[in-house]
Amino acid sequence: MHTLWLADIGADDLARVGGKAASLGELTGAGLPVPSAFVVSAGTYRSFIEDTGIETALFEAVDIDSDDSAALAGAAERAQELILETAVPANVREDVLAAYDELGDGAVAVRSSATAEDLPDASFAGQQDTYLNVERADLLDRVKECWASLFTQRAIYYRNEQGFAHDAVDIAVVVQEMVDAEKSGVLFTSHPSTGAPTAIVEAAWGLGEAVVSGTVSPDNYVLDRESAEVTDVTVAEKRVMCVRGEDGRTVERSVPDEKRDAQVLEESELRRLIELGDRVEAHYDCPQDVEWAMRDGELYLLQSRPITTIDDAEPAVGTGASADGGAMQSPPDEVRLSGIGSSPGKVSGTVRIVDKLDNLDKVEQGDIIVTEMTTPDMVPAMKRAAGIVTDQGGMTSHAAIVSRELGVPAVVGTDDATERLRDGQTVTINGEMGTVEVGEPESAASDDAGSGDGAAPVDASASGSTAPPTEQGHSPVKPMTGTEVKVNVSIPEAAERAAATGADGVGLLRIEHMILSTDKTPTRYVEDHGERAYVDEIVEGVRGVAEAFYPRPVRVRTLDAPSDEFRQLQGGEDEPAEHNPMLGYRGIRRSLDRPDEFELELRAFARLYELGYDNVELMLPLVTDAEDVLRAKSMMQAAGIDPEKRDWGVMIETPASALGIEELCETGIDFASFGTNDLTQYTLAVDRNNTNVADRFSELHPAVLELMGQVIGTCREHDVATSICGQAASKPEMVQFLVDEGVSSISANIDAVRDVQHEVKRVEQRLLLESVR
Ligand code: PEP
Ligand code: MG
Repeated sequence: MHTLWLADIGADDLARVGGKAASLGELTGAGLPVPSAFVVSAGTYRSFIEDTGIETALFEAVDIDSDDSAALAGAAERAQELILETAVPANVREDVLAAYDELGDGAVAVRSSATAEDLPDASFAGQQDTYLNVERADLLDRVKECWASLFTQRAIYYRNEQGFAHDAVDIAVVVQEMVDAEKSGVLFTSHPSTGAPTAIVEAAWGLGEAVVSGTVSPDNYVLDRESAEVTDVTVAEKRVMCVRGEDGRTVERSVPDEKRDAQVLEESELRRLIELGDRVEAHYDCPQDVEWAMRDGELYLLQSRPITTIDDAEPAVGTGASADGGAMQSPPDEVRLSGIGSSPGKVSGTVRIVDKLDNLDKVEQGDIIVTEMTTPDMVPAMKRAAGIVTDQGGMTSHAAIVSRELGVPAVVGTDDATERLRDGQTVTINGEMGTVEVGEPESAASDDAGSGDGAAPVDASASGSTAPPTEQGHSPVKPMTGTEVKVNVSIPEAAERAAATGADGVGLLRIEHMILSTDKTPTRYVEDHGERAYVDEIVEGVRGVAEAFYPRPVRVRTLDAPSDEFRQLQGGEDEPAEHNPMLGYRGIRRSLDRPDEFELELRAFARLYELGYDNVELMLPLVTDAEDVLRAKSMMQAAGIDPEKRDWGVMIETPASALGIEELCETGIDFASFGTNDLTQYTLAVDRNNTNVADRFSELHPAVLELMGQVIGTCREHDVATSICGQAASKPEMVQFLVDEGVSSISANIDAVRDVQHEVKRVEQRLLLESVR
């Protein structure tokens, strides 16, 4: 038997049909409205490789040293070729096509379902290979492509790394009726952060891809599950929708004018969704994140998985509230602060004023940290916090960067939050709008009153963004772009979250956060623990990221922290006290002045290469001219790093480096990456962290753009790749400018990657159209 119907499958059938099919079968068996499907069983894949005689050649092909990247690439190519070029036996072909005919004659979705779902590569492969709108004529080819996805480079590498035999993992394929949805979206059966009985629904017109990929800002509905009442409705402007095009492929269309601002779901439909959510949650006995679709008034369940983001920590509100009796009752608006919304999300929690390093322990799960400016030592407390508010700083400050990576809402640059707020007060912060209010807004109070959690995320998508679904791994449809779209990482803990964006690599990994979070300056760390430990600290931090992305490239930047950050650490008293640290002893200047310490960093790179992380690239910060680069290059060589063999490059952050790009190209760099945070501050003479002049800080200033345009032009002549990794990479206008100029890649923050991918795609399509008109 080569195929099985969903109705005959349950959770126990994982070995026969893989994780995805087992879960769809389980839902079908529970009477839930899953579109009809059959499964080409894992046994069919197994008999295909055995009966056609490719089994031995297949497993021999992947028996390689996967640290050898050429061998790995060759193995993946050979194995996939073996599968794709071998004909499917007639009996399998007949069974699959007969099942297809029984299903109906419309287009189907073809989805991989690996049997070792707990193996990261297998579930990765399973998520990757989904083909929509497949017609009968292409069905068997798509099934073979799903089989071949067991042998991507990444899958082979991980199985080798984790000691899994290649022949111990099989793959099944789900063939499912396509639902030509009129409306679709996502349903969180309980609150995705608190677990409270508050359902959240996102909905847009057309097929679900528009919602899960973030192409469209969906409507957002909040419902109290107990009373089945709709407590909040945000109707978004929905400009685009995904529909099935004439050739059967999914295409983006403009939403007709009359539907753009119209509410997608009526109350009766919302109630049906809640009912569906109740049934799914009851079946699994835990909150679920559900993809749904509606066609001709019928509701379908496309996928369901547990919500993994619910914070089940002890509530923290008691201590703070009682310590400051009455603060909880402060009416909204009694104090209203504004600053820069630097990490989106709206949240309520108890204020913890943090004014010196030794009182970080008082920050409990769900508190709101209020501080002058965060420091790397605060990262563990920032992870516990529900939100962050600072007096100082801009979009590129430590607080802004780290909170975005942690996914914690933040408002920076309020000027005087530490003076105007009191410990123990309850505040609500809006990390999109940049506001802080005392008290909880009414909707939060009623929504979350029962949760007992001090941190009450008020609105999981305050901005109407689709962050929750993509963060939770809905198989997002990644737009294909010629310009690579990468992601920035500053704390190794964010690696998995960053990799899940589907970015083409890491465009900037800042290592200073790893070092500074040891609470010791590099000098003190080496004195206390030795050189080897310091090298290991860097190797371990980088390795986690390099591994999460392998074989996608990870651009690792050598140390770049201003002396005022080092001065706050143990050993900081020996650091220079500088009048203007941003213009002082940082980046490559410090590294060249302290060759012994720089050499340890370079040794860490050499070690990573030895360990096989050939996806690591080396990037030098804050260079001024070719002399800086040549000195660093000879130190790389002395440390055993071959600049001809490894990809390395520089950041363009000073006007001098932009104007001297020709000489920099001649040093042999492979890439130049714009650090627009610094390039802007040095071109415009505007301190990037000074709120008094924040309104003058513009990366889109013509002077900055002029420098960038020149650099891209010269680099193209020298075959040197160009990139951007400053905060401005998240701005659509900057993306448009850079793609027009011919930049090679764009590296954005985790939360912006999906939007940037779409923006890049739009610009590339426009350029293509213009070129043929
Ligand atoms: C920049 O300057 O744009 C950059 C990415 O580096 P950092 O923000 O770490 O200075
Ligand atoms: Mg910089």
